[in-house]
Parts: sequence; C-alpha cells; structure tokens
Amino acid sequence: MNWIPKRKGAYYCSSACGGRCTWEAYQQAKTEARKAIKILGAGWKARVFENMGWHWTVTRGPISVHNGYWVMISEDPQRADHGSCLWTYNTTTYHKDPRVAVRRAAKIMYSVMNRLAKVEKSVRVTIDQFNKKAGG
Ligand SMILES: [Zn+2]
Repeated sequence: MNWIPKRKGAYYCSSACGGRCTWEAYQQAKTEARKAIKILGAGWKARVFENMGWHWTVTRGPISVHNGYWVMISEDPQRADHGSCLWTYNTTTYHKDPRVAVRRAAKIMYSVMNRLAKVEKSVRVTIDQFNKKAGG
C-alpha cells in the first residue's frame, strides 16, 4: 500500500486511498489546521492526512482537536486507531470554537476521574479487607 499522494490535475491522492481526493481539499485542510492553531495558541502540532478525503488534527500532549472541531483526550493521540484512548466516548465534544470544545472535553474527563475515584475507594475497602485476613 502506497500512502504517498500524487498530484494529477485537480486530484491529490495516493493509490492506497483511492478516494479521488483533491488538491483543493488538501490546501483547505492545511489552512483549517493553521487556523485552529492560531485560535488555540502555542504548543500545538498539526497533522494533515488523507483517508477518503483530506483531514487534519492538531495535538498538544493528550489533547487532539480534529476537523469540525471535535476534541478527544487520549493517552496517545498519535495512535491512528486510538487504541489507547480511555476517554473517546466520554469526551468527544464538538464546538465551533475549539477552545470551548477542549474545555468541555476536560470537564468530562474530570467528571470521569471523580467517578473513578469513588469506585477506587470501594475497591480499596475490599482489598484492605483481603489484606487483613491472614494469608489472604
Ligand atoms: Zn485520497
């Protein structure tokens, strides 16, 4: 599979993709990524990629902002399959202002953390009980 895009007239697409992606869409993705970074501020890195169309992501540590301004918080946002993502379904948020989307995602993450802390307390009580029993 060759994911290196080739320019052919109005198209800019790789043989592995085959989605007839356009040069215009590629340029637009780059522009949108730059615009997002301008809004978000320093420390964000852009990635423009092709998969049945041109897409972009800007990341800063565990936070990734995607085209359309949906946000995900993940242990490893660089992983394409988001396999290590603990929060995908809980923190995927959309907003026309990426900063609002990031704030929402963080708020949901904190809420998940608080819920986990409560569960952890209950689990700890059980484990402590095991540990008090001789040979437990
Ligand atoms: Zn393509």
